[in-house]
Amino acid sequence: MKILKSLFTIYALSFAFLMSAQNNQEVIIETQQLSDNVYMLTGQGGNIGICLGEEGVFMIDDQFARLTPKILKAIKALSDKPIQYLINTHYHGDHTGGNENIAQQGAKIIAHDNVYKRLSESTPATPKEALPVISFNDKLQLHINGEDVLVFHVENAHTDGDALLYFTQSNVLHTGDTFFSELYPYIDLDSGGSINGYIEAVKKTLILIDDETKIIPGHGKLSNKAKYQFFLSMLEDLKTKVVAEIESGKSEEDVATNTNITKTYDDLGYSWAFINSERIRRTFYKGLKQ
Ligand SMILES: [Zn+2]
Repeated sequence: MKILKSLFTIYALSFAFLMSAQNNQEVIIETQQLSDNVYMLTGQGGNIGICLGEEGVFMIDDQFARLTPKILKAIKALSDKPIQYLINTHYHGDHTGGNENIAQQGAKIIAHDNVYKRLSESTPATPKEALPVISFNDKLQLHINGEDVLVFHVENAHTDGDALLYFTQSNVLHTGDTFFSELYPYIDLDSGGSINGYIEAVKKTLILIDDETKIIPGHGKLSNKAKYQFFLSMLEDLKTKVVAEIESGKSEEDVATNTNITKTYDDLGYSWAFINSERIRRTFYKGLKQ
């Protein structure tokens, strides 16, 4: 079990490494305003959400530790108020890498119970300051900066500790990695993620939003409901096709080499460095075969 656990850790670390190594050029943090007080920051790793107001800065995810100075500079350009809260949408290093630095700015870290559990049990050990100080099981409401923010957990989707956030007044949704915009998603089967849970998470969240909602995905470009619906139809289509392959006795290798399954989305450019079309077919096979 110990070997298995460290293999999972290596796997998770290699994802973080790949995310950090995918671009050797200087990282530029770009800021997009989505409403009066909600912004999206992109750089390297998971997309960051920022909410500003009288009560201070409320932040969602923090990419990698080495980017913290640049991220803080981008936030300072928007507000001189301190960072009060930081929410982690899940435990992966490209979303939580800056936790310790942001906590040193005085922010309180909030995350799902399983994020606390995974970070506090990780090898090498996570510094105490980088751990959430508030964790929750199902959902949480934050009333800050004139916003009622619904933070809710979805079960076994990208991992076993995913949280999504919906800003009711600004009509902005941050999905964490339960949505990759115009890209094949990473579904971390070794950290409690599942194909069916991932599909259910998108279905559940679609009920909350409308045609005007601005969606900050975990990775990729700013999105909207129509694109999110298309993403759901892709997941369901891949599931149907891979289930049919499994039922007709096909092996993982058969599915891995059957490019017809993903052709429509390959043609749209959904394949990328970390989750290419072969990897998404293998993920669906493994996830649905279980
Ligand atoms: Zn992730």
